[in-house]
Parts: sequence; C-alpha cells; structure tokens
Amino acid sequence: MNSQKTHILSYTHNELKDLFQQYGLKRYRAIQVLEWVYSKKIFDFSLMSNISKEDIALLTENFTLELPEIEKKLVSQDGTIKYLFRYSDGATVESVVMDYDYGTSICVSSQSGCKMGCVFCASSKVPFSRNLEGYEITAQILKAASDSNKNISRTVVMGIGEPFDNYDNLVNFLKIINMKEGLNLGGRRITVSTCGIVPKIYEFADLGLQVNLSVSLHEVTDKERTAIMPINKKYNIEQVIKACEYYFEKTNRRVSFEYALISGKNDTDEHAMRLCSLLKNVMCYVNVIPVNPIDKKSAHQNSKNLSGFCAILKENGIPVTVRRELGRDIDAACGQLRRQNDN
Ligand code: SF4
Repeated sequence: MNSQKTHILSYTHNELKDLFQQYGLKRYRAIQVLEWVYSKKIFDFSLMSNISKEDIALLTENFTLELPEIEKKLVSQDGTIKYLFRYSDGATVESVVMDYDYGTSICVSSQSGCKMGCVFCASSKVPFSRNLEGYEITAQILKAASDSNKNISRTVVMGIGEPFDNYDNLVNFLKIINMKEGLNLGGRRITVSTCGIVPKIYEFADLGLQVNLSVSLHEVTDKERTAIMPINKKYNIEQVIKACEYYFEKTNRRVSFEYALISGKNDTDEHAMRLCSLLKNVMCYVNVIPVNPIDKKSAHQNSKNLSGFCAILKENGIPVTVRRELGRDIDAACGQLRRQNDN
C-alpha cells in the first residue's frame, strides 16, 4: 500500500485525534472520518460531505484509505465468497467470507505466503513474500464487507500465514477491529489460529484479551506431528499444551485444538485415546476437521472413523465439534487457500 501517507486504518480513535491535531485538523474530524469508513464504508475523503474542503485537502495530502484490489472473486454454491486481494506492491492474500446461522464471519490472512511448511496446507506451498501490516489485515475485512454488502460480525485469523510470526502487526490489527468507534468486534467474536509458537502463546495470554485461541494440533505424538508440522521440532506437543493451559488461566477462554482427520494417519481409536490422555486436564474443545485434499495427487483421504473418533472424545469428557465445510467447490475450505492460483 502507499507508504508515503499515513493509513487511517492503523489508528484507534484516540490516536487519530492526536494525529489529526498534529496535522492542523480539528480533533473531532477523527470520529467523523471513522464513521464514514467503518459505518458507511466510504474510502474516499472527497465523498465525506460533512468535512470542509480545506480539511479534505489536508486529509488527502497526508493520509490514505487505500484498500487492496480484488484480483479474483469466487462465490460458492453455499454462498461462501473467496477473495484474492492484491496490495499495491503486488503482494497477494486470500480472505473468505462465510455465512453461519449466528452471522457472517471472515477468515483473514496475516502474511503473504507462510514459512511454517505444514504439509497438509496449501498455503505452505506458496513461498513467503512478506508480513502484512495491521491496517492491511483490517483492510481485508472492509474491502470484503463493502464488496459483499454483508455485515461481518466475526473474524478468524486463519487464512494464509502464521499470525504469531507477525505478532506486533496482529496485535495492532486486533486493537483496531476491537475499537468501539470502528468495527467494534469484541474479543469473543475473534479467533486467532496458531500452529503452536509457544513463546507467543504466553505473550498473547499476558495481554489479557478475551480472544479465542485455536491451535493446530493434528497429531498425538511428537514423531507424527513433526512429520506434518515442522514447527513441532522447536515446540513439542507437551510445550504447546502447557502454553494453552496458561492461556486459559489468564483469559478464562477455552482453547480450541484443531485436528484434521486423515484416513489411516491420525484417525484410529488409539489416536483418539491418546488425544484424550493429552487433553484430560486442559480446559479446551477439539475441533475435528474432515480433511480437504490440497492437490489431486494427495494421498490424504477423508476418514471413515469420524464418528468413532468423536465418540471416544465425548466418552472421555472432551467437548468436540466437527467443522462444517463451507466453500469446498471454490477451494475456500481449510487448507485449500491458494490452491487454484498455483495450478
Ligand atoms: S496451517 Fe497455517 S501455519 Fe501451517 S502452513 Fe498453513 S498457513 Fe502456515
């Protein structure tokens, strides 16, 4: 995005009031601009009709509201919308808008590409290009909301990239979308998903935000997990689970463990039993994901043991949900982001 000018989406209301004053603008212009942007989805200063011509000139000269371009948009039969966004420097990311009974949710990307190399994930096949700034993540929500005309009431940071590998920008993004003069998304409506960067889980817990934390687990032994998630070499299962216990202690929010069920790999009754013993003292949920093939040659098949696996967890007192698959026909379901553009 335009680096010469200051991006409005980087700032909270209070910060913007101070900043505007430094530029010779009245402090009350801050709330006016925020209303145009977040409520009316107007991203052109010249259309802000309650702002004087002089102030519009000052805003245009010093600030920007640039959003990414829509490079591609796919709409699924179930209404899910996948966007491929392109920022002005050419970096691309994807965002997915999904309708649920309880409202509309967006899955945003935190990086262009990902360094983590999880073997089941299409995003890992795309070389890492760069971190996104906080305002660039917020811009995905605003662009999608304005294009789709949907009232987005929940956000998951589960698209391309590892959010805790871009920690400061993630925290800035969360602060902005939480702001009551902006999108006003409460912590309980926000989920951050990590592959298990342990020191950052502790740091995030200490912030005391009421944000939902989701951790990609996917395996029950270090040997097996390392084979599909290289990060496990650095932070093993025991360390990840300890960090999640700490997260609950600090925030009172149960952590959700993501477990993509892969036929013949991690879906046996023994795997389920081992998962129960790993999580027996942890305040958590397990979110079982029927696996999505990420390429036509993929050996990964849907598990035939989905209900048996879930039953064992339930019998052992572990709350379990099965993720509803949305947008599979447009490659928008989990692990499939970017797949189409690579083909
Ligand atoms: S699952 Fe997440 S952390 Fe792993 S490669 Fe994909 S985007 Fe990166």
